[in-house]
Amino acid sequence: MHYLDANASEPLRPEAKAAMSAAFEITGNPSSVHAHGRAARKLIEDAREKIAARFGARGQDTVFTSGGTEADALAIHALGIGRRVLISATEHDAVRSAAPGADVLPVSRDGIVDLDALRAWLAAGPPGLVCVMLANNETGTIQPVEQAAALCRTHGALLHVDAVQAAGRIQVDLTALGCHSLALSAHKMGGPSGVGALVLSPEVSGIIPLIAGGGQERGRRGGTQAVPAIAGFAAVCGAIFDQPQIAALRDRAEAAAVRIGAIVCGGGAPRLANTTSLALPGARADTQVIAMDLAGVAVSAGAACSSGKVQTSHVLTAMGLGALAGETIRVSLPWNVSEAAIEAFETAYSRMAERSRRGLVPAAA
Ligand code: PLP
Repeated sequence: MHYLDANASEPLRPEAKAAMSAAFEITGNPSSVHAHGRAARKLIEDAREKIAARFGARGQDTVFTSGGTEADALAIHALGIGRRVLISATEHDAVRSAAPGADVLPVSRDGIVDLDALRAWLAAGPPGLVCVMLANNETGTIQPVEQAAALCRTHGALLHVDAVQAAGRIQVDLTALGCHSLALSAHKMGGPSGVGALVLSPEVSGIIPLIAGGGQERGRRGGTQAVPAIAGFAAVCGAIFDQPQIAALRDRAEAAAVRIGAIVCGGGAPRLANTTSLALPGARADTQVIAMDLAGVAVSAGAACSSGKVQTSHVLTAMGLGALAGETIRVSLPWNVSEAAIEAFETAYSRMAERSRRGLVPAAA
């Protein structure tokens, strides 16, 4: 079985596993004052400093969460108080569901946010909160976040950036980007699932919690910290996966699919090196995924969905791709991708496309 679904979850890196195994040996709650508690606390505080430095922030402004979803929800809850909210049309459901009723920033056919529309929204009312993701989970499209941040700052607006898919794949630095907060998730970086962080700029770091609990994380996120998971997160936070090697394999897979009739969604925009979004006109996305799975290649249909049901992608719909939004699969190469996986993909995809042409893979309804 070949795994080409890294944007759902990267395989665990060995350094994360080693750091977690060592952390499991620590007995104690980081809030306890005795020596055991202090050992656990030292581990998470060292991890916090390391992660913060890696993402251009201060340890004291970095809040551990249960993952990217909670980091997005906390940012919108805390930074959105008393503000109008604008989210880009291709945000992850973690942002969309945390900002019901938000205004929506349109994107181009390649999935890039419309900066003129952002400028107009900022000028049209009181200071707001804007959410623009750094890299899209379905297409890999990288947004012009620095420009969006500059516009937001001119108008007194705050900018929250979901950097869940970008971290570990491209440089991500809160200060360089000029945004007010970053959402991170360890399992997209080769760390464990169930841990992430909200990284804040000093201007906004005194936030109101979503979960108050026992006042952990300087009162910004209650709940005993997941010590081993935080150790695994810190162990991988410095990694940036081998871009040229991954890009070459992605390009090879993509070129093979295009020769067979696929259309690359978002192919004209700057993209993550590991991601391609391939539409096959006339073939339903879920059926493509099943056919690829039966051929031993794990890919996904747009975003992974917890219910196991595949819905038409709101990302591709927002990009104006119409019926193709239900006929697209996401291929995302993991950090340890092999040539053999790409060869298996090419064989499986060409067989699947051939079956589709013969009417054996049903078209989207
Ligand atoms: N944001 C983006 C862009 C994602 O791709 C994901 C996960 O797929 C999330 C947020 C949610 O992260 P987590 O799975 O850590 O809750």
